[in-house]
Amino acid sequence: MSRRSLHTPAPDAAALRARLDRARAAAAAASTDALLIAPGSDLRYLLGQAGGSFERLTTLVVPADGTPALVVPKLEAPGYADVPTDDLGVELLTWVDGDDPYKLVADRLGKPGRVAVSDFTPALHVLALRAALGDAEQTLAGPVVRELRMRKDAAEIASLREAGAAIDRVHARVHEWLRPGRTEAEVGADIAAAIVEEGHVQADFVIVGSGPNGASPHHDVSERVIEKGDVVVVDIGGPLPAGYNSDSTRTYAVGTPRDADVAETYAVLQRAQAAAVAAVKPGVTAEAVDAAARDVIAEAGFGEYFIHRTGHGIGLDVHEEPYIIAGNALPLEPGMAFSVEPGIYQPGRWGARIEDIVVVTADGAESVNNQPHELVVLDA
Ligand code: ZN
Ligand code: ZN
Ligand code: ZN
Repeated sequence: MSRRSLHTPAPDAAALRARLDRARAAAAAASTDALLIAPGSDLRYLLGQAGGSFERLTTLVVPADGTPALVVPKLEAPGYADVPTDDLGVELLTWVDGDDPYKLVADRLGKPGRVAVSDFTPALHVLALRAALGDAEQTLAGPVVRELRMRKDAAEIASLREAGAAIDRVHARVHEWLRPGRTEAEVGADIAAAIVEEGHVQADFVIVGSGPNGASPHHDVSERVIEKGDVVVVDIGGPLPAGYNSDSTRTYAVGTPRDADVAETYAVLQRAQAAAVAAVKPGVTAEAVDAAARDVIAEAGFGEYFIHRTGHGIGLDVHEEPYIIAGNALPLEPGMAFSVEPGIYQPGRWGARIEDIVVVTADGAESVNNQPHELVVLDA
């Protein structure tokens, strides 16, 4: 197995510069004087580098009008050496222990009326900024930044395709490990290793839900020993070096399923997943895609056993906008990427889920996952 290089490709400076410009425009459109972007996915999106968040303040100040500045502790500045700050027109503002970095931000912004902070900014920075910024209203930057991140460009879609192909290769190998007599944890460890072998930086999550555990959608792995006749939900994914994530679920049977209702119920699930994907095209709302899956399952009498939304957006985060859920009237646009993952969960007995990541195209959907959707019946 060749382990792929861990070199981290970043978008080129022109692409990042365009994102920063759009972020500025989005801030202005939201009547926000500045975005304060914390380390994490938002920062990676705008600078090509996620950085790290610690007790010392690091923040990218993106004024609606003016020059962006990366405020960073001097001792952590080398971590941002790959960021093409000159090409991006981003000023580097370092500070040392004893300085007040919150005052640095406040001085930079003058007297802002409203600033938006990244959704996942540590509270210790949020509260210190609030004190430093006087009367400024603080809002979340998430709603502003998601307008950008939700619409993937060609390079991002290529990264999602690559991630989809990588996790498909892992699903194609699950038969090597999923056998009676092994625990979910043992199978999960083999799958996690394969996720890395097939090109991911790491395995972010490995769900092996066998038998009754499959009825718990966010089951992890356990010491349960897999038995002949079990239905097993395998939901796996992680980031590739470019930062974009995979996430795909297939349902397996270890030999002929023990429960007599599996084939018929699974056929309903398969129709529901296909109906939701078929519903995807520009202009259709996120909630209509959810309804397309849910209606098929409800009409077959399993409505109460589909206990989660149909999907979530995916990109630099595994879960991001747009959420495919009742109440979300967002019209889909080309470049939006999300999971379509209905499930049917029979408490105490078994569960099943089918999950692909799809990208909205000019007239429909492209699935980046291409493993067969049938229940995968393994030799046992
Ligand atoms: Zn989930
Ligand atoms: Zn998912
Ligand atoms: Zn998943």
